[in-house]
Amino acid sequence: MKTAIVNLGCILSGDWRAPFVQGDAILMQGDKLAKVGSVADADLEDCDLILDANRVTACPGFIDSHVHIAFGDYTPRQSALGFLQNYLHGGTTTAISACEIHVPGTPHDVEGVKALAVAAKRCWDNLRPGGMRVHGGNVILEPGMEDKDFQELAGKGVWLAKAGFGSVKTPFDYVPLIAAARRAGLITNVHTGGASLSLANSIWGEHLIAMQPDVSFHINGGPIAMPDADFERVIDETRAALQIVQAGNIRTALLVLDLAVKKDCFDRFLIATDTPTGTGVMPQGMIKSIAEMSCLSRHPPEWMIAAATGNPAKIYRLNSGFLHPGRDADVLLIDAPLGGSKRTALDALKNGDVTGALACFTAGVPRYIGRSRCTPPPMRYATVVKNTVINDFPAPPLV
Ligand SMILES: [Zn+2]
Repeated sequence: MKTAIVNLGCILSGDWRAPFVQGDAILMQGDKLAKVGSVADADLEDCDLILDANRVTACPGFIDSHVHIAFGDYTPRQSALGFLQNYLHGGTTTAISACEIHVPGTPHDVEGVKALAVAAKRCWDNLRPGGMRVHGGNVILEPGMEDKDFQELAGKGVWLAKAGFGSVKTPFDYVPLIAAARRAGLITNVHTGGASLSLANSIWGEHLIAMQPDVSFHINGGPIAMPDADFERVIDETRAALQIVQAGNIRTALLVLDLAVKKDCFDRFLIATDTPTGTGVMPQGMIKSIAEMSCLSRHPPEWMIAAATGNPAKIYRLNSGFLHPGRDADVLLIDAPLGGSKRTALDALKNGDVTGALACFTAGVPRYIGRSRCTPPPMRYATVVKNTVINDFPAPPLV
């Protein structure tokens, strides 16, 4: 399938160092981006679908690096069906498993957690709810795991490991487990902050410094934050990515944001949701955090979009997250919400308003064009000017 989006008002790259792409058009061929910025008339002739964007904003689909998936599009924690399809309508095109701890009866023995991770990885490789890409199979670290276990997991395609819900006596017991997982090439993620439902001990700065993980999961607290003095130490004494989540502490999220900018390590700053959890199912979780970090800080909203797209793509070694040729064709169109006081998506975010989503593509396939069912209506709608695929995109409502 070949698709062009023309007449864009703004193209956000997902790269905070160069957040804007000059031009007004995007060309997708197959499941990849072919051109970003300008598209020649000759390119349009054999397109299957051409969308006139009516001057709205394009950005990469969001990568939520903290989603509590189980199996299928169902969350046991909130007994909700179809939540991932709703997250797609909130703008999330990629979900990374926060480990499959919500699967009822989660095992805690070494063979059990390995089998769970392999099964989740294999199942999610075959399933894209609504078109969303889900990276499943985040192995829960348990005492007794050794190098050979992680090498076996890596050989079976598992590339994520999670410290935080295992049967350890103290968080320091995770130090050798994280080291072994990293030796096998797995990306290691550590629960940070106060005790969660199944975790007896808080994980604070000294533990993270001893563990040296790749990612501090919900560094702003999940949902209970560690002491303020620990944030600077974690930034200075580890190289961990600093993941803030919608379900965490908003004051410490802003503290981390300011420190990341001040210490010139914004590449490590990630926006995620940590849902579904007790906080609920939140289709707008990503855009809500993007708006909050934009309106409550002095930093630009295009950086917050990058913290939800290009930054996690780099940390998790994904091919999505950027609007650059050759990257995955995961594109989101957003605009200021109808009825608001601002005229563009970025102005709305700086104002603290969530944007309206009006079209979403994953792997080059249109998943919805018109109104998203999980955001406010946008100020403007895109128009389908050519369509040869068998799909009836509903006309936008008259406004
Ligand atoms: Zn979590």
